[in-house]
Amino acid sequence: MKTLFERIIAREIPAKIAHEDEHCIAIHDINPQAPVHVLVIPKRLIARVGAAKAEDQAVLGHLLLAAGEVARKLGLESNGFRLVINHGRDGGETVPHLHVHLLGGRPLG
Ligand code: 5GP
Repeated sequence: MKTLFERIIAREIPAKIAHEDEHCIAIHDINPQAPVHVLVIPKRLIARVGAAKAEDQAVLGHLLLAAGEVARKLGLESNGFRLVINHGRDGGETVPHLHVHLLGGRPLG
């Protein structure tokens, strides 16, 4: 069974794409918690950050670089932004496909 984000990557479910490259896609969250709320998602399935393996190292680094690039592109760099990764039930994870939340556009408490 594909994850929700694999279906978005395969264009089976529509999403507003902020960035895409060989290793990741960045989409605007359907239920934004800030004026800018983007999810940066690896194309290769990694279920969650704690399930990542040594071979995922380059992709994990790439996600942060991509998040910084998207933040710049969306004009967040000067005022700042926040990156969040939720792992598991207590972390608030609802989609079992690793994603970095990029939040900005207002002061975050
Ligand atoms: P999590 O709670 O797993 O850290 O984050 C999952 C995120 O995916 C949530 O912020 C949720 O709003 C977002 N989301 C859930 N379904 C969809 C969808 O169909 N499209 C988009 N763009 N975002 C979604």
